[in-house]
Amino acid sequence: MNLLIMGPPGAGKGTQAEVLVKELSITHISTGDMFRSAIKEGTEMGKKAKEYMDRGELVPDEVVVGMVKERLAMSDCARGFLLDGFPRTLPQAEALDDTLKALTIKLDGVINIDVPRERLMARLTGRRICKGCGASYHVLFNPPKNEGKCNSCAGELYQRSDDNEEAVSNRLDIYESQTQPLIDYYVKANLLKNINGDQEIKKVLDDVLVSLKG
Ligand code: ADP
Ligand code: AMP
Repeated sequence: MNLLIMGPPGAGKGTQAEVLVKELSITHISTGDMFRSAIKEGTEMGKKAKEYMDRGELVPDEVVVGMVKERLAMSDCARGFLLDGFPRTLPQAEALDDTLKALTIKLDGVINIDVPRERLMARLTGRRICKGCGASYHVLFNPPKNEGKCNSCAGELYQRSDDNEEAVSNRLDIYESQTQPLIDYYVKANLLKNINGDQEIKKVLDDVLVSLKG
């Protein structure tokens, strides 16, 4: 299965993706995770991307599109993939269509996790991420079993530098103006699976799995 997962920052894309890719035996591709790895490795692209990310802005389309094109051509995508956090603009969606066409890959569905804006600030400012495996936790809504430690790899948890009120507010505005219009793009392509993300994590997962069977 070749899938996209969409939704505003904090909707629960990463949380759901972590379980879904195991359940479906497909490859998780998160553009946000790829940029954070590039930052950690200190690459030129990472340095450039960090400036945009810390302000809560989007990294320019040509940088993201180039990175995703390379990633989709790798062999582990042949078993199926879940793209998380891409596309975020109309030019990115069009570039993805062209790339998939060139690789003769068909998209099977676009999961849209819908959460009202007023819930997202609390989700993002309380989010904690594992340094080791990137798993996402929340200090109140999804706390780890041992404080500050990842349940699956015991890695140390940290707060993302863009999960502060100012950057979050910017990211939510940018989502509404640039990314939300893509919902209509994928409705027209007859691919959209709309999921209520304002429910318990497990219930969201069940709804996603049901939507993929239908
Ligand atoms: P995204 O990848 O869409 O930005 P995350 O998966 O990182 O979002 O989730 C954002 C925050 O919200 C995390 O702290 C996560 O633990 C929490 N979260 C995810 N899903 C839910 C849910 N259904 N209910 C409450 N909190 C959630
Ligand atoms: P995320 O981990 O998906 O919340 O992404 C974190 C940040 O990485 C975003 O706020 C952007 O700055 C950048 N980013 C990730 N994916 C994209 C994308 N598809 N287009 C532009 N910027 C992106």
